[in-house]
Amino acid sequence: MRNNNNEANKQRITMMSSSAMPSDDGSSSSMKALWMPFTPNKLFKSSNRPRMLSGAKGMYYWTSENKRILDGTAGLWCSNAGHCPDYIVDATQRQLATLDFGPSFLFGHDKAFEYATRLVDEIAPPKGDLDRVFFTMCGSTSVDTAMKIALAYHAAGGNAAKFRFVGRERGYHGVGFGGMSVGGIPNNRKQYANCLLPGVDHLKSTYHRDRHAYTRGQPSWGAHLADELQTMVATHGASTIAAVIMEPVPGSTGVLPPPLGYLNRIREICTRHDILLIFDEVITGFGRLGKGTGSEYFNVAPDLITCAKGLTNAMIPAGAVFTKGYVYDALMSTTPHGVPAIELFHGYTYSCHPVAMAAGLATLDYYRDHNLFDRATAISPHFEESLHSLKGLPHVIDIRNLGLMGAVELESIPGCVGQRGYELMERCFEDGVMVRQTADTIALSPPLIVSNEEVDIIVDTLAKNLRLIE
Ligand code: PLP
Repeated sequence: MRNNNNEANKQRITMMSSSAMPSDDGSSSSMKALWMPFTPNKLFKSSNRPRMLSGAKGMYYWTSENKRILDGTAGLWCSNAGHCPDYIVDATQRQLATLDFGPSFLFGHDKAFEYATRLVDEIAPPKGDLDRVFFTMCGSTSVDTAMKIALAYHAAGGNAAKFRFVGRERGYHGVGFGGMSVGGIPNNRKQYANCLLPGVDHLKSTYHRDRHAYTRGQPSWGAHLADELQTMVATHGASTIAAVIMEPVPGSTGVLPPPLGYLNRIREICTRHDILLIFDEVITGFGRLGKGTGSEYFNVAPDLITCAKGLTNAMIPAGAVFTKGYVYDALMSTTPHGVPAIELFHGYTYSCHPVAMAAGLATLDYYRDHNLFDRATAISPHFEESLHSLKGLPHVIDIRNLGLMGAVELESIPGCVGQRGYELMERCFEDGVMVRQTADTIALSPPLIVSNEEVDIIVDTLAKNLRLIE
């Protein structure tokens, strides 16, 4: 059966091309042109069964062979309301036919102002005064924007010597040069190592398997790790540090919930030394932890928040940076009133894109009308219980969870890091479930509309295939 499908698939891919000559990487020429992001291209293109998606609705994808795939990852941590909800699709299509594009430099349109206001009122943490929004295009551009705002803010206050950034090991902040520099994933940095930003330090990761393995939710050990920031301040001088950036829960490197009290301590140290705190909430925003932001969940207010993904339910690419009012005000005070002087030399052609704004507004309605953030909170105890039932299965060395984020970590095959995780991801897909693989960790982040039964299907599929992989 499997071989027949392989043949059918090969034929289909071959038919997609006008010439079926294999390219030098072994792929058919129909696949030659596309350079796939964050994908082992040669492996994917030479596979007998490349994972090709052609449709989506609710909790499911459909492959080009019309096979139904249960989405255990909300796409890439982003389709929080599930796929193609009619309400958001309609609003997006209406906008496309009304105002397809409008320049956001020197011109405005209603939906951008309305959306920024609603984000402040409905998503920004209730305490914290994060009441200004700058729109970007994605998570990476949100991070680079936040870093530029931090530098510009300090310069506006006469503190241009504050140029250093502090990131964290195992942090992911996208792929711009700013985000890469503060990010703490060696593989993402090494090809560009000579050109990363100067003056960046990294805090140690808070994850210690010997102390944390199989913790449900936040570990109790590790708040003191925040004090390393105090040491960095002593080393470099607070007068040189612009900002600390971190994900409240690092997601891409395998869901690492922060030790209880850690984020509060980071906040205190930043406040003491006039260092801006940026929470990168590209994953933790928009209900993943049952609240509008992780900041609200942890009750720790940063000075800036970066977000994307769930902002528009990923239907149209968009990102945003929330800042505190005084950050905005400091920059506004750099120019006199009534003259055409730009206060922040920054922006993207697609900042405030009308279609993204319409998709975002409809997404906010949808989250509210379907109570999706509360739903995430309600379902997370079952998610936790189900996920931790994998303890004791072959290869499993840790399981972590918070809200509707979860991870199962496997022991790596010596010399072949990632092999086991990749095989497990592939097998689950064959069995109709999409999971996310990074190295030998499988991450789960289902859409917030997931049911208990669907959680069990995802976990049972992992269990079955954990017993089958080598
Ligand atoms: N920051 C975090 C925390 C992320 O998880 C991601 C993407 O997963 C990014 C930034 C980059 O977002 P994008 O891929 O939209 O540029």
